[in-house]
Amino acid sequence: MATVWLTAIWSRSSCWAEQPGDTRPASRRPTLGYVDRQLIDTFGRVHRDLRISVTDRCNFRCTYCMPADGLEWLPREELLTFEEIERVARLMVERHGVDSIRLTGGEPTVRANLTTLVGMLADLPVDLTMTTNGVTLRALAGKLAAAGLTRINISLDSLHAERFAELTRRDNLESVLDGIDAAIEAGLDPVKVNVVVMRGVNDDEIVDLARFGRDRGVEVRFIEFMPLDADRSWSDGAVVGCDEIVARIAEAFPVEPVDRTSAPATRYRYLDGGGFFGVVASVTRSFCDTCDRIRLTADGQFRNCLFAVEEFDLRSLLRSGASDDELSEMLQGAVAAKWAGHGISSVDFIRPNRSMSQIGG
Ligand code: SAM
Ligand code: SF4
Repeated sequence: MATVWLTAIWSRSSCWAEQPGDTRPASRRPTLGYVDRQLIDTFGRVHRDLRISVTDRCNFRCTYCMPADGLEWLPREELLTFEEIERVARLMVERHGVDSIRLTGGEPTVRANLTTLVGMLADLPVDLTMTTNGVTLRALAGKLAAAGLTRINISLDSLHAERFAELTRRDNLESVLDGIDAAIEAGLDPVKVNVVVMRGVNDDEIVDLARFGRDRGVEVRFIEFMPLDADRSWSDGAVVGCDEIVARIAEAFPVEPVDRTSAPATRYRYLDGGGFFGVVASVTRSFCDTCDRIRLTADGQFRNCLFAVEEFDLRSLLRSGASDDELSEMLQGAVAAKWAGHGISSVDFIRPNRSMSQIGG
């Protein structure tokens, strides 16, 4: 095992661009011979999916993520600049084989001049996407698409205005629905909708939200509620598991599972041709064994897991004039230190200190 691991780390990835099933246009695929050292952990997992949080701030206050008030924002000087983000991203793509970048937050669209960053990252041969609450997309979607964003995930947890306002602590359902339309009109493809399902809160809308996705031609991803809420109100009982979500949808629309990939969502196909939906079953069916995700927080901390309790201070290294080799060394060490899994259901589970909005979902 150790030999296989070391060989994989040091060998050049020679046929990256020709992997079967890679549907990206040639201009967006990593170039042959680019990759020096893949980011592989001691369990043999190759990390290719980078989540970059561009801000910890948000214009919503979703109950399952942020407190109503009292969360202190990062001082501006602690945020990575666009140039710093681009440097890290380029290194990870060109030297370490990252081929997918997702911008997130907090709410990424509240970071000033976000389209400039999108344009900078779009020069890299990656699949570039973003997760957003969608509230400003009517104004922004076209600009983001023009800057090079390829696809988008938009959060929407209820179709009832009153409940939406309770959940997000903002009365903005109509703007988010309009934002979804704007993303489709801008040609972002696919547009996906993220739904955090919570028992007794919005689980009665599972079928309605699935129908919404079918009608609008967008793929809904139902996300199991995770213990990353700032209010610390999460409990086992509030989680609606993947099996229950699928069973409820299948009662209304027959479905079949689609083959699993390293993507976090388990996907299902509607048998009547109505498209797909997914379930991100982080709690009941953890997908840690195939996890290929790594994270950069808005203040430049590198995380090898969403639930990591340890962070690696990339910002200090960047600002102390470190060379690419030194940055690479930290990244490889940080990935090598990745644990087997988060163990949410185990008694040993330790919640990270930071909430979802501060880590970057
Ligand atoms: N503000 C953007 C948004 O809401 O889409 C991006 C950041 S948000 C932290 C990223 C994703 O994490 C969203 O889809 C959100 O619904 C999800 N999320 C936040 N807190 C969560 C929790 N405790 N459990 C599961 N998903 C959560
Ligand atoms: Fe903001 Fe997204 Fe968290 Fe909601 S889930 S509070 S929109 S960061």
